Amino acid sequence: MKNHPLETALDKGIKGIGITGEEALALAALPDERILSLLAVTDEVRRAHKGASVNLCAIVNAKSGLCKEDCSFCSQSIKYSTGVDEYPILPPDEILNAAKEAENSGAREFSIVTSGSRIEKAADVDALCASLEAMKESVDMERCASLGMVKKDVLARLKESGLMSFHHNLETGRSFFPNVCTTHSYDEDVAAVKAAKEAGLYVCSGGIFGLGEGWDARIELGRTLAEIDVDSVPINFLNPRPGTPLEHARNLTPIECLKIIAIMRLLLPKKDIVVCGGRQVNLRDLQPLIFAGGANGMMIGNYLTTQGRNATDDLRMISDLGLKPRACHESAV
Ligand code: SF4
Repeated sequence: MKNHPLETALDKGIKGIGITGEEALALAALPDERILSLLAVTDEVRRAHKGASVNLCAIVNAKSGLCKEDCSFCSQSIKYSTGVDEYPILPPDEILNAAKEAENSGAREFSIVTSGSRIEKAADVDALCASLEAMKESVDMERCASLGMVKKDVLARLKESGLMSFHHNLETGRSFFPNVCTTHSYDEDVAAVKAAKEAGLYVCSGGIFGLGEGWDARIELGRTLAEIDVDSVPINFLNPRPGTPLEHARNLTPIECLKIIAIMRLLLPKKDIVVCGGRQVNLRDLQPLIFAGGANGMMIGNYLTTQGRNATDDLRMISDLGLKPRACHESAV
């Protein structure tokens, strides 16, 4: 007799084997009232591979707006009138101050994020290297950057200056990507993620959900990330920004968000799954369930262009759930 999809998911997840696309679709189709049955499975799988540790990361928007790309969800594109802050790359002392603030608020990984599809100016690379060197000296945090599509020689220089992790999202499944961005190709994004892997960095790559994509595209994204063997999958939920093409999109329910987290955990059972932007507005009162859903990390503090929840509330939520923040450089289990 054929196993129920939940039994198969538990068995494979504990063994560290990703479910198939077909199995993922069957789980996505479970009625909403079965959500706790799905979360019972993903909680076991998360605990098997990640224990009670929660990764806490924070970011600084180190270069804002003025991006020539047209990602439909993003308020930093010059194609849309959004009123977002526009500034060139921050000087190293301001980046360091933001890192210190994040460390004090409880984050153990800090990412320098710049708008735009790539870092083009040599002076910007110099500023980033100086920021990483300063962080190495003064804060006890894992150093990450999200800088678009970065050339190999620049990645090598950043690594020499102390870069440990690199973030670059694929955003959605390949088949849906042309609906999201027309100014660069999916293959360019995949190449950027692979370049970071080849550079020997811990690689963080995921996407944003609620763009109008269906389960096929979500599962396609998860399978691509599993194939590339990324280390961590950040999950963002659309918080529609005024002035962008998606300003009126309201596509997700809290239960759908939990299903997205759960299915990513089951497609990539041994990887880090980190819930990032759009958490409050989309999950609302179901936020604490992200960990049962399979997440073992979350972003705290403010997001790129929107405000986050108070970090103290997030730390209390983790402790109330019997979980604990992972210390810097500590292995995840
Ligand atoms: S997501 Fe990145 S590449 Fe796309 S418009 Fe925004 S800043 Fe530019």
